[in-house]
Amino acid sequence: MLKKEGFNVTEGICNMPTAVLGEYGDSGPIIAILGEFDALPGLSQVAGIAEHKPIENAGNGHGCGHNLLGAASLLAATAVKDWIEKNNIKARIRYYGCPAEEGGAAKTYMARDGIFDNVDTAICWHPATFNSVNKPVSLANTRIDFTFFGKAAHAATAPHLGRSALDAVELMNVGVNYMREHMPDSARIHYAYMDVGGNAANVVQSKTTIRHLIRASNLIELRGLVDRVYKIADGAALMTETKVEKNVYSGVSNLLGNKTLEQVMQSEFDKLGPVIFDENDKVFANEIRSTLTESDILDSFQRIGIETPLDMPLCDFVAPLDSLGNGGIGSTDVGDVSWVVPTVQARIATCAVGTPFHTWQTVAQGKAPAAHKGMVHAAKIMASTASALIKDPSKLKEAKNTYDEQVSKNPYICPIPEEVFPPIINNKF
Ligand SMILES: [Zn+2]
Repeated sequence: MLKKEGFNVTEGICNMPTAVLGEYGDSGPIIAILGEFDALPGLSQVAGIAEHKPIENAGNGHGCGHNLLGAASLLAATAVKDWIEKNNIKARIRYYGCPAEEGGAAKTYMARDGIFDNVDTAICWHPATFNSVNKPVSLANTRIDFTFFGKAAHAATAPHLGRSALDAVELMNVGVNYMREHMPDSARIHYAYMDVGGNAANVVQSKTTIRHLIRASNLIELRGLVDRVYKIADGAALMTETKVEKNVYSGVSNLLGNKTLEQVMQSEFDKLGPVIFDENDKVFANEIRSTLTESDILDSFQRIGIETPLDMPLCDFVAPLDSLGNGGIGSTDVGDVSWVVPTVQARIATCAVGTPFHTWQTVAQGKAPAAHKGMVHAAKIMASTASALIKDPSKLKEAKNTYDEQVSKNPYICPIPEEVFPPIINNKF
């Protein structure tokens, strides 16, 4: 599509076969529009119905609306390209196709490798149950695989000769559980067993792998927590006479805000207003809402700090810029882009108020007419923000000054170590 639209296309960015860069224009400021398109495992779901019905067991589903995300960003980049072309404007527009946001952290590798280096501003969006300029708050995180190596033995005849790697991961989890009481409130640690060492209870398991996902409000806090988890892993290895290997799998930074860009985007948002939905959209939204709890619905606007009305099937307003969020914070690899270039994002209503993301209800609404209306609206917000910035270079400069001030005090240190490459190269899938 980028080629068809006349962009210069580079494929396989950072050796990721599905990462793509399209550029149009040969001089002037560079505006980047970021697209994502990945899905989530285990969320296969038939579209357009209000009941849980997978298409295939354990299949993938667009539980975070990234199908809409990537497409709206492409539409926005194309609209800006058409505007530049038609009016002979000195500006360059880029579309960054960024795979594997859900845990793969493609943008972090792209930020580390300087792919955003000469960009003036990056613009992005995310599907939501509400309309707002994104609150620049997200958690830094890292996924680290801990592999324990013990010694296999017959569990009945020679248990004294075995050293259990399974015991080691269990003790590590106990240690992390005790650590949780002594972490900052916003920090989170999640885990998944990647390899339990086998299913024979009569064998002392000799090799196990556990993945810990550590989240913190910023990179400094994150590095502190990672050091503590490393000590717990070393302790578990010491206790069980096993060895432990630590491999960083991915990492993302917290988002840096940029008031100038947020004000420009808010002004475009206020001009365009909320997404306009019709009666049919509201009927389907209410069907979906009948599968949700009241708590799901009441939590829906917590990111914008507005009390959720129980009788609003689809969001019909644009949140003011100064509304204060009170929770609902996750992580995103857009965070790393915001550390290397001034960045702004929108949240646009694409689904029923109350819809929890990463659930079948999000997938079920993923290609409904309401979702497509939100998607086109998102493209308009991003494209008009880009053109407003191109028309007023003083805003681009102001945004850059704010960014320079932030990173001069606290420079970017990529959370993925230099020796780690996208897992597709390490062949870890
Ligand atoms: Zn998402």
